[in-house]
Amino acid sequence: MDVSHRKRTLLKVIVLGDSGVGKTSLMNQYVYRKFSLQYKATIGADFVTKEIQVDDKLVTLQIWDTAGQERFHSLGAAFYRGADCCVLVYDVNIHKTFDTLNNWHDEFLKQGDMNDPEAFPFVLLGNKVDVDGGNSRRVTEKKARDWCASRGNIPYFETSAKEGYNVEEAFLCVAKIALENEHEQDIYFRGISDAVSEAEQQRSGCAC
Ligand code: GDP
Ligand code: MG
Repeated sequence: MDVSHRKRTLLKVIVLGDSGVGKTSLMNQYVYRKFSLQYKATIGADFVTKEIQVDDKLVTLQIWDTAGQERFHSLGAAFYRGADCCVLVYDVNIHKTFDTLNNWHDEFLKQGDMNDPEAFPFVLLGNKVDVDGGNSRRVTEKKARDWCASRGNIPYFETSAKEGYNVEEAFLCVAKIALENEHEQDIYFRGISDAVSEAEQQRSGCAC
């Protein structure tokens, strides 16, 4: 295939989870490699972007953050519209942030208005694994993985936005499964172009 004809892919990723779990910090670590212990409830932009290469494809990730509205569950339809992947985040040291994952998951599926909710890609991040050397941890990895299995095999990463641990890996997975989801929507068109090129080959006769 001619590379110049390939479209650059824009993927919309939204990050959900309770206030304070580290959503903004994870994004800042991923996009700017920066971390601050200072708590900033509001940020200026609705989203940040990062360009990455996934296999042979250039992908622009557009990652949507909240400006603290998650506290009131009032994110609005524009936030959810057209999402290609939803990243759920909880704090491994605060059990309540794990319990509310069900609400965030359900709310996303309700608001997102996607064609096939069951096939929609999520990724779960258990953040702040660095805190107290793991001694103040309240949610085990097994518990988190069981939840992921019960919700249709959601990929799971344990992360630290502070140390930059697993952040890159997690977002690469986000990009990959968002791309896969996109392929499923395109399958009909790919089917046609495959059929056409086969017909062309037959017309031109045997290549040997
Ligand atoms: P948000 O409300 O989900 O966007 O959470 P923030 O990103 O604003 O983070 C809330 C607080 O937790 C801030 O004080 C961060 O510095 C801190 N924080 C975020 N991620 C981590 C982490 O991985 N480890 C530690 N120790 N602190 C973190
Ligand atoms: Mg935030």
